[in-house]
Amino acid sequence: MYKLGINREIVESIYREGHPIAQYGLYMKKIRPYKVFKIPVDCGLVCPNKDGTLDTEGCIFCPKMGRPISVKYCDSKYSLKYQIEKQMENQKKKGIGKFYIYFYPGTNTYGDPERLKELWDLALSYSDVIGLSLGTRPDCLSREVLDILEGYVKRGYEIWIDLGIQSFHQKTLDLLNRRHNVSHIIKAILECKRRGIFVCGHVILGLPGETWKEMMDTAESLSRLGIDALKIYPLVVVKDTKLEEMYWRGEYRTLDRKQYIKLLCDFLEHTSPYVLIQRVSKDKVPEEITVSPEWKLSRLAILNDVITEFKRRGTRQGIYFRG
Ligand code: SF4
Repeated sequence: MYKLGINREIVESIYREGHPIAQYGLYMKKIRPYKVFKIPVDCGLVCPNKDGTLDTEGCIFCPKMGRPISVKYCDSKYSLKYQIEKQMENQKKKGIGKFYIYFYPGTNTYGDPERLKELWDLALSYSDVIGLSLGTRPDCLSREVLDILEGYVKRGYEIWIDLGIQSFHQKTLDLLNRRHNVSHIIKAILECKRRGIFVCGHVILGLPGETWKEMMDTAESLSRLGIDALKIYPLVVVKDTKLEEMYWRGEYRTLDRKQYIKLLCDFLEHTSPYVLIQRVSKDKVPEEITVSPEWKLSRLAILNDVITEFKRRGTRQGIYFRG
């Protein structure tokens, strides 16, 4: 199944059961008879948009000090081995037997490929680890890095790139100070697909200056490129960011909850029915650093509201997608 990508027959069975969204969790339950947990790890890897290679400021929504993570043992002060083993031990007590290792904060394909390979080899050396998820930027997938990852795919591991995309529009990427182009996004997705590496794109709704049409274009363009999965978030203003300055100057307003649910459903209607949806909201952002919005971002509550809205509309994911 891995080299062929997402199994469409399984996705169709999800819709036949009455679910309006191709939820990643439902899909995974169907292809695996056992529970799998993603262990987040922090190896202290940096980002070229902050270390001075491209810029020192980073994206306008990214806190200068990085985003605090509230997962116990996911902390670069511990060795990778310790982070994996402590979390694995805790999850095994709950009956979970198989794992992905999710290299999460920073740009996890940026740096010396040999050093990265050492980290990935260590993560994959555990017999209960079935694959990796690597959070990264579209301009940080060198041929060397992709060759290493393709090597893992050939050995039967499931490799996911968690790709920060945010928008498919250059004017928005520039405004966000992403410091990469749409062409990097296209190349990254196509190169991964060619090598049997899965791509989960991260997209933000409600970005400054983006129109409804542009957001729908992002859904359709990523679908046409054959992206495997999406994590969709509302834009959150956090302290110590350029976005916070824009917010206090009155140059940006976050979406209210109702607007977000509506936009999210519209976005999903314009996304291919075969793209798996991993998330429809953010991980919990600590209240002490959140400036706006004030409504709860809880993933489960948002998902329930999206399902209710689809029932009200009588539609589902992909209904307006023309491939
Ligand atoms: S690419 Fe990611 S880590 Fe780097 S500045 Fe932007 S949001 Fe932050």
